[in-house]
Amino acid sequence: MPAILFLLSACTGEEKSTASFEAMDTEMILTVYGDGSACEKLKNKVIELDRILDVTDTESEIYRLNDSGSAELSEASADILQKALELCAQLDGAFDITVYPAVTAWGFTTGEYRVPDEDELKSLAERIDHKNVGLSGNTAALSADAQIDLGAVAKGFAADELLGILKDGKAAAAVLNLGGTVALYGKKPDGSRFKVGIADPEDPAGYFGYLERDSGVIATSGGYERFFEKGGKRYIHILDPKTAEPVDNGVLSVTVICDNGSRADALSTALFVMGLDKAEEYYRAHPDFDFIILTDKNELFITKGVYDGFTLAEGYDLSVHTVQ
Ligand code: ADP
Ligand code: MG
Repeated sequence: MPAILFLLSACTGEEKSTASFEAMDTEMILTVYGDGSACEKLKNKVIELDRILDVTDTESEIYRLNDSGSAELSEASADILQKALELCAQLDGAFDITVYPAVTAWGFTTGEYRVPDEDELKSLAERIDHKNVGLSGNTAALSADAQIDLGAVAKGFAADELLGILKDGKAAAAVLNLGGTVALYGKKPDGSRFKVGIADPEDPAGYFGYLERDSGVIATSGGYERFFEKGGKRYIHILDPKTAEPVDNGVLSVTVICDNGSRADALSTALFVMGLDKAEEYYRAHPDFDFIILTDKNELFITKGVYDGFTLAEGYDLSVHTVQ
């Protein structure tokens, strides 16, 4: 289910084409204005990326790498892995693609959920370190029992690829909803801005607010996407690389708005792990993005770049703060 819904005003006066399909474990809805053939091209690109990046698909390049510890990658995968490693370095401690063994141990890949004991968590945490992934040319090698998962950034990479295809084509505008990561392109013919709904973590089919935007990629991470409950406690699929445990810091959802899709996607996961205070600190040091963070205290924190474009949905009683 898409975590974010896009809304376009009813009549834009341009030919509109859409494609809805399942990929990357989620539902994708592509809407393109002014180029009837673009949707199919974009859809094929997403499916191609899914095929090489899907960590659970025994035919994928990433599966082969995890399985054998080294692999000769295609140009496309090597490029994505290189960028993912750069994001790990930038977001050290909060975003790490080597969380995969921990993701598996908690059962998030299979749905056979369990809570690892302290010893197991300790050894899982010791295995998490992106420096154990080597990439030389197109040859990738994993050391110290590392395994990787690009799940937190695959949709962001797809967004960047699709925006690149659109830039080379003739479409006038597009809204690409890649299951919670939304990429905006071009200008709507009526001149109005795109309106993107931000999913309510309590009821992800609903929206606690709307963001009006001209462009960029909007990525949301929330515990609601995948979790289980045991002994009255909720365990979510976003893990703290330092402890190999699900994050439990009062953050309910993080939306990041950034021109770069992979950075938006990685940041939405990373800021979730950091928690509100560290996320604000990181933003002040690297203000090339905006965020919207919802906490379990019904508080909403919105950075100044998107504050004016945000509207709270009717019926939501949240206290809204700007982050300067
Ligand atoms: P979603 O895929 O629901 O949009 P995210 O983008 O936040 O959510 O990605 C979460 C997925 O990324 C998890 O299912 C897991 O496979 C992986 N993951 C979990 N924690 C981390 C982390 N700290 N760094 C990198 N990847 C992570
Ligand atoms: Mg993400």
